Formats: sequence, C-alpha cells, structure tokens
Amino acid sequence: MTTIAFIGLGNMGSPMAKNLLAAGHALRIFDLSEPALADVARAGGVIADSAQAACTGAEVVITMLPAGKHVRQVYTGVDGLLTVLNRDTLCLDASTIDSETAREVGLAAADQGIQFMDTPVSGGVAAAQAGTLAFMCGGTEEAFQRARPILEGMGNSEKIFHAGPGGSGQVAKAANNMVLAIHMIGTCEALTMGANAGLDPAVLSEIMKASSGNNWSLQVYNPWPEVMAGSPASNGYQPGFMVDLMVKDLGLAMEVARGSGVDNALGRLALELYAAHQADGNGTMDFSSILNRLRGDPRP
Ligand code: NAD
Repeated sequence: MTTIAFIGLGNMGSPMAKNLLAAGHALRIFDLSEPALADVARAGGVIADSAQAACTGAEVVITMLPAGKHVRQVYTGVDGLLTVLNRDTLCLDASTIDSETAREVGLAAADQGIQFMDTPVSGGVAAAQAGTLAFMCGGTEEAFQRARPILEGMGNSEKIFHAGPGGSGQVAKAANNMVLAIHMIGTCEALTMGANAGLDPAVLSEIMKASSGNNWSLQVYNPWPEVMAGSPASNGYQPGFMVDLMVKDLGLAMEVARGSGVDNALGRLALELYAAHQADGNGTMDFSSILNRLRGDPRP
C-alpha cells in the first residue's frame, strides 16, 4: 500500500482515484470542486483542504488537471507543491499538456531532488473506469520503475510505456492523437463516399476492415450510426471523446510539430476541420460526429 496524494478528480481523475483505492492504496484527495471531492470520499479517499495539505505524508503525488497552466501553477506556483514535497516524493502528471511545460516542471522538480514524470493516458473515461488506461511516460528509468506498480492500479500493465526523457510522454500523446484525428476523418470520408455512391456503410466497413484500409476508427469506433452497437455514433454521438478535447490535443500536436521542424500538413488540416466543427456547436459531441460535417450537415 502506498500513500498517494491525488489532485484533480474530474471525468478522468475520479475513476482513476477510485481504482487506486480499490487496489488498496491510501488516497489523500484535493479538487476545487466539492462534489468531485465528496464522490471520491465516498469510495474511501480522505479529503484535504488544499493540494499542499493532500501531500502531507504522501509518497506519490498524482495530478490529473485540465491544461499546462494548471499543472504549472499546482507544482511551481506561489505555495506550489515543489515548496512542500519531501525529496524522495514521486510526482506523476497524467494530464494532457504541452511537452514544454512537462519538461520545465520536471527540471524544477529534479533541482530539488524530486522525481517527476509526465504520464498522459489514452483510453478515455471508459478505460479510466475499467482500469485499462494506456500510459505513456516521460522521465528517468528509475522514476518509471517506481511509477509502474502505481500506474498498474489504473491501467493495463501491457500498455504502460517509457517513451523517453521528461516531456516524451506528452510528445507520444500528441503524435497518437494527431493520427487518431487523421484516420477518423479519413474513415468518415471513405464511408460517406461509399454511401453516396450507393454502398451500405456496414458492408463497406466489413470490406475495409478485411483490407488495407483497416484502422482503429473503423474497427473499434465506427463513426456511422448503427453500424457498431455501443459506439458513440450509435448513441447520438454522446462522448466518448469530445470534439473540444480533440481540438486541444491537435493544438498540442501543432506545437510539437513546430518545435521539431515538421510541416504536418494533415495534422493542420485535421485541426482546421475539428476547429470548424467545434465552432458550429459540436464541442461537447463525440469526435466521431465529424462524419456529419463530411455528410454536409455540420450542426449538432
Ligand atoms: P475535467 O475538467 O473533468 O477534470 C479536471 C479537474 O481538475 C476538475 O475536477 C477541476 O475542478 C480540477 N482542477 C482544476 N484546477 C485545479 C487545481 N488548481 N487544483 C485542484 N483541482 C483542480 O477533465 P478530465 O476530462 O478529467 O481531463 C483531465 C485531463 O485528462 C485533461 O488534460 C484531458 O485532456 C486529459 N484526458 C481526458 C480524456 C477524456 O476522455 N476526458 C482522455 C484522455 C486524456
């Protein structure tokens, strides 16, 4: 059993924290939202008055926050966690943020002998609830070995990767979600083209799944309504993974591309299409609803 401070108990953090409690860890919890705190307290988490207070006696700190500015403020702001943590604390930031912030917070932590890893996740709320998240980790090998048994309480042990040094987890996450957006849009285009030319999208999906056009969006997240039971498309495009989050992640991918000197033309186009879809009022819809835009009906 490890004493863990868990900060950020939203859509993702709440089920992740509950799985750690179910795995036998002791959790000290903090969030700005009272209902979020009360929900995880019912599962056994001990509420703290502040992020700093949550860290009292904690061997590991986990943060699951909206964006880079929140992570920076919580760790390195005035009264930030780095001012109160013991030297041997392990910090795991599972938020999806820019790799630059992850690197800088990691360096600030290392200056004080504190281990920090960026550990963004893939899998969404369903995988967070099921405890089957994938983790992509950036930091030292020593920190990764310490982190692994904790991450196994929230994820699939075969999907916990050490991507490289600090910031690498966020680069991997940006690369993955950029290609996710591209193959989702490509899949929607192919299905719309086939349907408009007279094919049944369900039949076309089977053909492409057995052929070289097969991909994750087609196989496990089919964007055409009623082709796949249980998909967001068959449930009015309720998320799933929201358009708002895809736009955020594509913005992060653009930053990585700029920083690494890559002209990611398809990533840029995917961002343009998803930003337009968001501006049309689809921000809280599942990202597979981009199909409606390609079918010429972009309104929610
Ligand atoms: P969310 O908005 O539901 O939760 C964020 C939580 O952080 C909220 O409860 C908020 O009150 C809390 N918070 C904000 N600032 C805080 C502070 N200073 N101190 C304490 N608590 C604070 O977001 P989410 O959907 O849980 O996503 C969290 C992160 O995971 C994001 O970076 C997101 O991009 C990433 N992510 C989300 C999904 C998804 O499907 N939702 C999938 C993969 C990754």
